[in-house]
Amino acid sequence: MSLSLAQFPQIQSKIDEAAGELISLGKFYHQRGWCMGTSGNFSVVLETEPLLMLVTASGRDKSSLTRSDFTVVDQHGMAVMPDAPKPSAETLLHITAAQQAGAGAVLHTHSVWSTVLSQRHFDRGYLDIEGFEMLKGLSGITTHETKVSVPIFDNAQDITEFSKLVSGRFKEDAGNMRHSYMIRKHGMHCWGKDLSEAKRHVEIMEFLLEAVGRLEGGQ
Ligand SMILES: [Zn+2]
Repeated sequence: MSLSLAQFPQIQSKIDEAAGELISLGKFYHQRGWCMGTSGNFSVVLETEPLLMLVTASGRDKSSLTRSDFTVVDQHGMAVMPDAPKPSAETLLHITAAQQAGAGAVLHTHSVWSTVLSQRHFDRGYLDIEGFEMLKGLSGITTHETKVSVPIFDNAQDITEFSKLVSGRFKEDAGNMRHSYMIRKHGMHCWGKDLSEAKRHVEIMEFLLEAVGRLEGGQ
């Protein structure tokens, strides 16, 4: 079903605001080396009933996003407006986080440390992060005396099947699917109840991954 923006006049201002924030975020993540070239993808929930998400279009350089590099998708990941750019190939993973974890925004990065640590700890299935002050930047954590186990999935090209796997983990492993997960030799998905919280989770997690990697003896 194709919709037009005229059917959702109230979301135009949300689209403009979210796109503006994601354009700035793309520049920053590129500067930090978290989304080099066209890697990574971002989304913000615009409406929940029915689900409508603003997502980055496929194959766009994150250092120079413009308003035309976004598209609005429904709960199936289909672009809802005619002539809209093709959504990111990983859009279904964003929808899964919105539906299963109540995410208001999802940010997917391809940093060096998430790529390295997701490989190094893949056999265990989790990366344990314990005792760091910066853990308190994650929602629901109030003391450094805690351990966060970040799930690590194997990389996959079939995103439909992969999103079903991730969806199942949100149900079966909710205690660990709280802020983020990693994909082997690929990157990390972080989310939050809104874009502000998702941004904070990316910054905290990227800091923690680098700290863990350096303490393990990485370069
Ligand atoms: Zn990716």
